[in-house]
Parts: sequence; structure tokens; C-alpha cells
Amino acid sequence: MRKDGTIPTLYREKSSQWKGGVSSVQIVARNDNRLYEQWKYPILVRDGFKCTKCNNTAGLHVHHDGETFSEIIKKVMTIDDYEKIDNFEVKKTITDKIIEYHVKNNVSGTTLCKDCHNNFHPSLNF
Ligand SMILES: [Zn+2]
Ligand SMILES: [Zn+2]
Repeated sequence: MRKDGTIPTLYREKSSQWKGGVSSVQIVARNDNRLYEQWKYPILVRDGFKCTKCNNTAGLHVHHDGETFSEIIKKVMTIDDYEKIDNFEVKKTITDKIIEYHVKNNVSGTTLCKDCHNNFHPSLNF
């Protein structure tokens, strides 16, 4: 326990608060045009704007088929970021780091339509 009675951040990963924080960062990052322009778009071009499973051309997503989005978020976030995850400016800073990470590391992705993508994430509603 810290002086102010809060539980140290390391334990927060398993809490629902942490998960909620990460998914709110995911929402901000997913809606950032730069992620589309710098990471998704080149993958869509490579895959010919078609689902790589069923050739559907509508409702395309780019699925993280190597490192997952939440793994990347965990890597780029600092302890300090976790503490302030509810702050929108902090989310934007984390988003900048997420985008930079995707571009620098050439993060693996594959084009999937909404239905095929749902098969990879059965618990999420995309
Ligand atoms: Zn996915
Ligand atoms: Zn498909």
C-alpha cells in the first residue's frame, strides 16, 4: 500500500478498472486517422481491399494477427500513464506512442471482414 492508501499500479492489470482503461485507449487509438493512414491502409492495399478469409469487400477491418492490440498498449504505456488513464490528453499521448509503435515495428496485420473478424474475437462486438 502507498501512503495515500492506493494499491500499487502493478496489481491493477488484473482489475476491471485497468481493462476498462485499456479498452478506452483502444477506442481512441482505433478512431485515430493516423493509425488508419499509416498502418491499416497499407495492409488493405496489400490485401487488395478484400477479406483474406472469404474475399468479402465490405466492412473491412485490419486484425492484429501477430502482437495483439492490448499487448502493444501494455508495452507502450508507462506506470505513470496507467495512473492517469482517465485523462483524455494522456490517452492521446498513449495513442501517439501506439501509432509510432505500429509504424516502427511494422506490426503484423491481416484484412478481415466484420464476420470473419468476429470469429477471432467471439467475446467482442465489433
Ligand atoms: Zn482482431
Ligand atoms: Zn470474411
